[in-house]
Amino acid sequence: APPVVNGDFYELSATLTGEDREIQLKVRDFMETEIRPIANEYWNKAHFPMHIIPLMAKLNISGLTYKGYGCAGKSALLEGFVAMEMARVDSSISTFFGVHSGLAMGSIYLCGSEEQKQHWLPIMQRMEIIGAFGLTEPEVGSGVAGGLTTTCERIGDEWVINGQKKWIGNATFSDITIIWARDLADNQVKGFIVKKENPGFVAEKMQDKMALRTVQNALITLTDCKVPETDRLQNANSFKDTANVLRMTRAGVAWQAVGCGRGAYELALKYTLERKQFGRPIAGFQLVQDLLVTMLGDLTAMQTLVYRLSQLQDGGVLTDEHASLAKVFSTLRMRSIVDHARELFGGNGILLEYDIARFVADAEAIYSYEGTKEINSLIVGRAITGESAFV
Ligand code: FAD
Repeated sequence: APPVVNGDFYELSATLTGEDREIQLKVRDFMETEIRPIANEYWNKAHFPMHIIPLMAKLNISGLTYKGYGCAGKSALLEGFVAMEMARVDSSISTFFGVHSGLAMGSIYLCGSEEQKQHWLPIMQRMEIIGAFGLTEPEVGSGVAGGLTTTCERIGDEWVINGQKKWIGNATFSDITIIWARDLADNQVKGFIVKKENPGFVAEKMQDKMALRTVQNALITLTDCKVPETDRLQNANSFKDTANVLRMTRAGVAWQAVGCGRGAYELALKYTLERKQFGRPIAGFQLVQDLLVTMLGDLTAMQTLVYRLSQLQDGGVLTDEHASLAKVFSTLRMRSIVDHARELFGGNGILLEYDIARFVADAEAIYSYEGTKEINSLIVGRAITGESAFV
């Protein structure tokens, strides 16, 4: 029988029909023709391929699930498949897109006033302007819920923001960055749309990352950064509102982990069919098949989990703990899959030209961002035991 190099073993994509299936295939085609040939080169240079932004805009997939404002109002399930297709080829590109479409547009969609949504979302949907999301700080990562040190203070019709943000994806070139800061007056977290030309906003590229090198992460310094009240997200009143954005995007990261695992599995299977030792393809050896099947089992479990996760989201009943469990489980399994895949490449597994080394490195960042394994586990632990380990 011919080999089956397809990580969607239970044919979950087959449940997408009509236009949704076309969108999935359009994204796959874009990733294979525009991104796969250049992925290693840009990763190695640690540059972002700016020329792909107008090409990506043509896919018409930014803010895919949002209703109105030029967005398509599609299901979270389709959005999950889109994130998976991107990460299957290049997790940096799916991260760039997730930050723009999920974190930045999502903050405005969930926390903006009607006027703010009408102003920003259509131009972001068309990718005429690109967004970033600044929550993490140099000294505050896991503890952002109660610990933000970046401050904001209202003076007349303006706010003055001071502090630093670290790791902010896209922020070296993004037109706007959503900045989260603690209000000195009421101690609550508020969100601001900060434009790149604001003189109080400086974004420096973080150098020498060993993962997601194509993503441009910035260290942002805000020095008496003045933002008009009209650019404060009018419906972001406390960290709870920030957490609503993260719940949605964490589900996206779980799908991204599926894509990274799937890409690695498919690369490894193809390699074992081509690579010969002892006079035959290594895919014919029992120990190699055992590894491949272990990977496929993990991959299939992840896929069915995130599929149900998106159904919960589409049904409007997604909780923080649903999203956190999926993020923990998928990223753990992803890490195991990319590890096995690299093993099957032997020495070639550490050469960039064979792709798999990039997957191994990128998996480490996906494993840690949008809440580490520990933090997402504690969110689930709190829900199932009724005891919070955070305090
Ligand atoms: P820390 O919080 O210092 O954690 C260090 C270790 O301590 C971890 O293992 C952690 O799990 C553990 N730990 C902490 N608290 C506890 C606890 N209570 N119990 C048990 N263990 C604990 N942020 C943004 O705002 N915007 C972005 O666009 C963005 N993009 C990113 C892109 C990349 C490539 C990376 C790596 C990060 C990005 N981040 C971004 C930041 C990311 O969300 C944080 O790195 C992450 O939340 C972890 O925070 P930290 O790195 O400060 O680690």
